Amino acid sequence: MIPSTDPAAGAAVKAADRAHVFHSWAAQELIDPLAVAGAEGSYFWDYDGHRYLDFTSGLVFTNIGYQHPAVVAAVQEQAGRLTTFAPGFAVDVRSEAARLIARRTPGGLDKIFFTNGGAEAVENAIRMARLHTGRPKVLSAYRSYHGSTSTAIGLTGDPRRWPSDSGTSGVVHFHSPFLYRSPFHATTEAEECARALEHLETTIAFEGPATIAAVILETVPGTAGIMPPPPGYLAGVREICDRHGIVFVLDEVMAGFGRTGAWFAADHYGVVPDLLTFAKGVNSGYVPLGGVAISAEIADTFATRPYPGGLTYSGHPLACAAAVATIRVMEDEKTVEHAARIGETVLGPGLRELAARHPSVGEVRGMGAFWALDLVRDKETREPLVPYNATGAANAPMAAFAAACKRNGLWPFVNMNRTHAVPACNITEAEAKEGLAILDGALTVADEYTA
Ligand code: PLP
Repeated sequence: MIPSTDPAAGAAVKAADRAHVFHSWAAQELIDPLAVAGAEGSYFWDYDGHRYLDFTSGLVFTNIGYQHPAVVAAVQEQAGRLTTFAPGFAVDVRSEAARLIARRTPGGLDKIFFTNGGAEAVENAIRMARLHTGRPKVLSAYRSYHGSTSTAIGLTGDPRRWPSDSGTSGVVHFHSPFLYRSPFHATTEAEECARALEHLETTIAFEGPATIAAVILETVPGTAGIMPPPPGYLAGVREICDRHGIVFVLDEVMAGFGRTGAWFAADHYGVVPDLLTFAKGVNSGYVPLGGVAISAEIADTFATRPYPGGLTYSGHPLACAAAVATIRVMEDEKTVEHAARIGETVLGPGLRELAARHPSVGEVRGMGAFWALDLVRDKETREPLVPYNATGAANAPMAAFAAACKRNGLWPFVNMNRTHAVPACNITEAEAKEGLAILDGALTVADEYTA
């Protein structure tokens, strides 16, 4: 699977990158990006002969793995037939992508507005909610990530917002449920659910319900720590939104398209949002694509009144061809069912078994191919292995853990004091077990930092 090694070619790729590529979220002189030579399925490799099992799915988007031949062929075929076309026309592959996506959304959200990625989907969902209600404010959770454009970063609840927060976004943050680190001093899921709903209700009351356009939540928060909500929470938010005429937006950019072992995470909870944002897994990230699935009621707001938003590449044919092919592959290969089963039979039990043996693992959370290990200094106190938003020396335990994973051939997802096991949804049982074994070894390194 690894083509011949070619360190000189790798060095040239790296040199041009360092000279000319300005990277996201980074101090440019302090980073050392790996030069990638190729990828296939659940693996990628560099120019020096190192192969890595990808437990990150890129940025949690290669839900069917790298270079799936059916999707590669569909993109090639589309490129040969009609590479691009402006968004104002009806194009076969765009129509088909919209139909396939709409048919799978919870509650049959029947209209699809296409974007180039997740943040633009969130931007447009919030714009639709504000215009639909005529209200300015939006509520979002502290433990959340919604993207890095201006509205989306304003909604985001983690420190990535801070440098861009001018305090004028119209966003009010609230605490979503998270029993392991409960903001409500709750001791059971039922208590956490009831108190989180009461807190949201109180926040709305004090903000003024008539000023609030939308509540946006990740159905299962992703980058913030993979916290499946307690039973009843999302249904409770739906009820609160209905009572106050507030639009309920579910952000499924990360959790959607099989990641949780369902087409959409909302399917696990039986809730139907008014707007649902998606991206990433919709076409496994082979060509940039995102979008908003829209309820009939909100679509109707723009039936005779123009929607004031658009993008040159909305519904780009290459991206839509990749989406059509990806959805067909996921149906044919039963990828969603596979993700559910691998979560129940391999990843979940395997990670819990690691937690039982390693003092550094405080909690295992997740479902499907979407898991987090909350690493701690002390299981009793639950003190995180590194402080919130730690950098440099303070982050040494997580850096040592990540380095141990890489030394042994696993590329880990690491965020603050957590590692997420988020491989391709079609990862095989043998590959998942290989990943668990490497995590086992790396956790021994993390254990050395426990109290
Ligand atoms: N929403 C969620 C839940 C995400 O996880 C992300 C990206 O990780 C985004 C929105 C932003 O997506 P993009 O990076 O495609 O703009």
